[in-house]
This record gives sequence, C-alpha cells and structure tokens, in this order.
Amino acid sequence: MADVTDTAAVTGQPDDGRASELGARLRAVQARVAAAAAAAARPEPTLIVVTKYFPASDVRILAELGVADVGENRDQEAAAKAAELQELALRWHFIGQLQTNKAKSVVRYASSVHSVDRAPLVTSLAKAMTAERDARDAAGSPPRNDLACYLQFTLEAGAQPGGRGGALPEEAEELAERVVAAEGLRLAGVMAVAPRGAPPAVAFDHLMRIAHRVRAVEPAATAVSAGMSGDLEEAVAAGATHLRIGSDVLGQRPAVG
Ligand SMILES: *Cc1c(COP(=O)(O)O)cnc(C)c1O
Repeated sequence: MADVTDTAAVTGQPDDGRASELGARLRAVQARVAAAAAAAARPEPTLIVVTKYFPASDVRILAELGVADVGENRDQEAAAKAAELQELALRWHFIGQLQTNKAKSVVRYASSVHSVDRAPLVTSLAKAMTAERDARDAAGSPPRNDLACYLQFTLEAGAQPGGRGGALPEEAEELAERVVAAEGLRLAGVMAVAPRGAPPAVAFDHLMRIAHRVRAVEPAATAVSAGMSGDLEEAVAAGATHLRIGSDVLGQRPAVG
C-alpha cells in the first residue's frame, strides 16, 4: 500500500509542491476535527472541503488524498469542475446562495444543497429533480438519489424575512414540511453560518434548537451543517454532523471582487 505521507506516490505525478501542501493542511484539519470530537465525546463529523475559487486540479489532489465530499458555492464553477472530475465519484455539496433558475443545473451534479432557504427554491429543486430523473430514464442512465436538502437559517439578530443567507428560525416547520412533501427531495437537516462579531458557540446552540424542531417534523433529518475554518471546534462541540472547511485546507482564497 502506498504511504499516504508520500503525496507523489498517491497522485502518481511528480510532486509539484501543491500535493504535499494540501496533504499537510488536510491532515492538520483532520487532526483538529478528531481532537474536537474527542474533547466533546461526539462522533467525528463529515468533513466537506470547500474548494470554491480553487482549480479542479486541487480537487483531484484532494480526492487522491481521500477526500470524498467537496463544497462549492457558485453553479457555473461547480458544474465545470464536476464535469471535469466526473470519473472521481465525489459527492458535490452546493453551499451557496441559489437562484431558482439554477436549480436545473445544480441537480445534475450535486448530491446535496445546504442553502435551501425559501419555499420557491424548494419548488424549483423538486421540479428540476423530476426533469432530471425523466432525462436519465430517457437516456438509459442510472437513476439518481433524492437530493439531500439542508434548510439554511440566518442566526443574525434582527434579520428580516426574505433576506439573503437563510430563512428565519420561525420558518423552520413550514419549510421542513414543504421539503418533506416535495418529490425527489430528502430533508437532511439544517445549516447555518455563525454571524460575525458574536460567539459562535451561542449561534450553534441556537442552530441545535432549530434542528430539534426540524426533527420533530422529520425524524430522519438529523444532519447539522455548521462550522468553518475559524469555528470548527465550537461547531463540533455543539453537535455538528457536517463541517464546511475551505481556507484551512486550501489556503487563502483570492479576494472576492
Ligand atoms: C466559503 C464557505 C465556507 C468555508 O469557509 P472557510 O472559512 O474558508 O473555511 C463554509 N461555508 C460556506 C457557506 C461558505 O461560503
């Protein structure tokens, strides 16, 4: 068996430095996750490596290092990478703001959407899933699983209904019921980003209370997608089942324009 510390052996390519850098960063994050889970006496969450803004070649290296779950937040970029890396059997998680007119594209490659935050998006995703399944049937392609949907909530104090970046906590039951009733969708659980300038532990505890209410609607909706590079320890302590880690694995992203 190849020694996984030898990235040249894993990638089968001359080591250009990037593979060893990503390997070292990935192992450091995995060690933090393991330590946080042990400290909290919780099972280790699934690590989703957020590869937005980084090239498909980086995603390929990560796959060779054993990463199975990747996160992206822009449809155009994600669709191109997923097409290029089709043979790798990665699970693509869509984690960004999603316009309803992109639903059709997203369901072609994504196994999950972590940013389901309003009723019209539920409708569009369900319609897109029906169309996608019909298209696969017609082409004789293998069927696809239900799309795993995470309800995204804003934990900002004073957030307004219909704002960007998540539903209001009081919308939890209604949105959960809509996803449960929708064809082609599976309610996986909840998702949030901790607001800036407030302790993440408080935000994640709030998210866990919302998760509890969502589970009252759908007992199978046990997933909690929380925790980024800067707050993964707090998220694990609160009970996150899925972490979305970008910069601590890939390095600093180019500045967003
Ligand atoms: C970019 C992004 C992440 C990853 O953030 P890092 O701080 O780079 O780990 C996680 N979740 C969402 C929704 C993101 O957009």
